[in-house]
Amino acid sequence: TAACLAAIENAGALNAFVHKTPEMAREMAEAADVRIKAGKAAAMTGIPVGIKDVFCVKGVPSQAASRILEGFRPEYESTVTQNLWNAGAVMLGKLNQDEFAMGSANESSCYGPAVNPWKVDDRQLTPGGSSGGSAAAVAADLCLAATGTDTGGSIRQPAAFTGIVGLKPTYGRVSRWGVIAYASSLDQAGPMTKTVRDAAIMLGAMASVDPMDSTSADLPVPDFEAALSGDIRGKRIGIPREYRDGLPPEIEALWDKGADMLRDAGAEIVEISLPHTKYALPAYYVIAPAEASSNLARYDGVRYGRRAKLGQGDGIVEMYEKTRAEGFGPEVQRRVMIGTYVLSAGFYDAYYNRARKVRALIKRDFDQAFAAGIDAILAPTTPSAAFPLGSLDQSDPVQAYLNDVFTVTLNLVGLPGIAVPVGQDSQGLPLGLQLFGKPFEEGELLNHALVLE
Ligand code: GLN
Repeated sequence: TAACLAAIENAGALNAFVHKTPEMAREMAEAADVRIKAGKAAAMTGIPVGIKDVFCVKGVPSQAASRILEGFRPEYESTVTQNLWNAGAVMLGKLNQDEFAMGSANESSCYGPAVNPWKVDDRQLTPGGSSGGSAAAVAADLCLAATGTDTGGSIRQPAAFTGIVGLKPTYGRVSRWGVIAYASSLDQAGPMTKTVRDAAIMLGAMASVDPMDSTSADLPVPDFEAALSGDIRGKRIGIPREYRDGLPPEIEALWDKGADMLRDAGAEIVEISLPHTKYALPAYYVIAPAEASSNLARYDGVRYGRRAKLGQGDGIVEMYEKTRAEGFGPEVQRRVMIGTYVLSAGFYDAYYNRARKVRALIKRDFDQAFAAGIDAILAPTTPSAAFPLGSLDQSDPVQAYLNDVFTVTLNLVGLPGIAVPVGQDSQGLPLGLQLFGKPFEEGELLNHALVLE
């Protein structure tokens, strides 16, 4: 803990931690020491972790990197963080992210972007998003592990951009209680760690059955670490043909390398088809903003955080308008507008309902693949390595959305996925692959991932 606190002080330029909790950390570390000496250590006793800003931690600023939550200190603790403290983990502070987890470059944060510890010719690169601060902090050894959330790739893409491991659990495996909502049918919290084994241990600590989250799955949490035998002989790994469309040669070569690693470990590699893949990105960018526009309606200047200064004669409508206009950044405003539009009476069937139907078809693709005996699916995580900060064209948001082409599908179908660093691009930057697994079979998924490490 002391080493991490010192490292955090020296790494201010990464802008990974947006709120530090050194006193809490020291107290928790001392308590951990006592437990260890008493022979009562739990799964994560004494392990210093960083927490993405989107998780409510009692008494600690929790803003989801938004100005609209300025001054908000939750009165309650998210289930995930409570589970981590119960498992003995030590709180180092809150980590940078995109505002309300909307973005893929950590550039929509009210704190400014987090910076990738990897560099090319001193050019600053994005750590990815939205869990960019978590990824940068783990990659730069500011903490031993961090929490992330993944609504459309926000754990896996930053993990790939920084060369760490990121796991999105099955929807329902980890409680959403106390996690500031973006898109409730897609949001899922998970671990961001240095190794697959760490991910297994941390997922075990984070997951629980939770009556406070009506979508929490009523299933026991298995010992994920115990599933890590490294033996994948006879397993069948699917390579989805549709992911090859327009793939850069560098990523294609990486994908082949990953397939070879799995084959060498005794798995059988089979080409499969997920025919509705190309509709996933447009469906996601209808469904996610729709749910966001509804979730973000609660920021009204009354219940949480910030309220705009009002002029003479301003009424409640002006209060809403001014508060939301100055509290939300441009990307969040765009999503609220898209979401309200696709949910409006005249367009509901044309966009929102259609996207929901597409979602069901995409789900069927995966059901069929697994029913045909596939054990896991191997795919690239991102179409490129980390790109320079500031290089996204702000006038063309679709360019940014295209970065999510390999990640959003998994959230639409609720399945678990893990991103693992597998190679490097021509500039020496990390590149990763992801594995998709069967519902609630994270142990098996992690075991496959072990072979790629
Ligand atoms: N980049 C995607 C988005 O902006 C995914 C974000 C996420 O997973 N939280 O919606």
